[in-house]
Amino acid sequence: MNSISQQTRIVVTGGAGYIGSHVVLALVEAGYDVLTYDNLSTGNRDAILSGELVVGDLADKDLLAKTLAEFSPDAVMHFAASIEVGESVTNPLKYYRNNSVNALNLLEALRVAGIGRMIFSSTAAVYGNPAQLPVTENAPLQPINPYGASKMMTERFLADLAQANADFRYVALRYFNVAGADPETRLGQDYTNPTHLITRALKTALGIFPKLQVFGTDYPTEDGTCIRDYIHVADLAQAHLDALGYLSSGAQSAIFNCGYGHGFSVRDVVAMAKKVTGIDFPVVETGRREGDPAELIAACEKIRKELGWQPRFDDLEVILRTAWEWEKNLERETRDEGRENQDQSQDK
Ligand code: UDP
Repeated sequence: MNSISQQTRIVVTGGAGYIGSHVVLALVEAGYDVLTYDNLSTGNRDAILSGELVVGDLADKDLLAKTLAEFSPDAVMHFAASIEVGESVTNPLKYYRNNSVNALNLLEALRVAGIGRMIFSSTAAVYGNPAQLPVTENAPLQPINPYGASKMMTERFLADLAQANADFRYVALRYFNVAGADPETRLGQDYTNPTHLITRALKTALGIFPKLQVFGTDYPTEDGTCIRDYIHVADLAQAHLDALGYLSSGAQSAIFNCGYGHGFSVRDVVAMAKKVTGIDFPVVETGRREGDPAELIAACEKIRKELGWQPRFDDLEVILRTAWEWEKNLERETRDEGRENQDQSQDK
């Protein structure tokens, strides 16, 4: 489905973040010319392995307009966002500003620059607690936390914009639980305070956190913990390339779930993390985290059929193994840096 021209130019907002950086790498490897626009608030400069980087905020309309005018991309991929469900409950306005208002700024800038294609990072959180599982793309949108609501609003901006303008088309990808790392260990998740389950579990195995908390054991699921559809970040990156190919072929705007169609409980993930690491790290069961739906599993037929998406890493063990290799590398680097700093201070 991909018709890749060597000259196709893509602006990636949030390209220095976890998912964005994997997509930037996949785009460059596929021959695209990429510019990352990122304020580095949670992303890392080191995660941009190729392409250009403009350090900027989506609230900086002048810089955004200038960047788009100068680079003149064929399409924009919009990753830059705040992503923590729990934080969105306690600080909702941050989410509406970063995820909704900034997306509006971006869309306005795209219109001015005459850019007619966008791929948007949406989320399964737009569904809330779905009545039917696996949840299909046409299920009602009933987010139960501000994170999901902030992304739902941007989906609405996109739908209305495309409806009003035949020269604007988009793909919104609703991510389920993205995890894992580049299979060649060049990239992975690198946040100062990670909140996601798999990263927390592996960092607990490394002794970086004293214990892993299991948030809630009284959910209406088989083992009482929440169930999620974990998707490998490299498969998700491929979905973005497939979406670009889809838009390039002239297809209409569309929304796709990105998941594998089956789920694992928090307890399943903890057991797999212990198996992969070989470490029996401490786990404590605590109360529910606010804003968490009990179960999210993607219906994934649409993306396979219409984008031709063919995932390669649909295996919880592979997801954890790639993430574990990455975490061990990060830990080694941090230790080496610490040793270097110590040596330098002793030299003085
Ligand atoms: N979770 C947990 N302990 C943690 C982090 C997450 O029990 O330290 C649970 C969380 O309550 C949810 C699931 O793991 O049920 C997945 O959460 P995560 O933050 O990874 O992703 P989300 O589904 O919120 O996007």
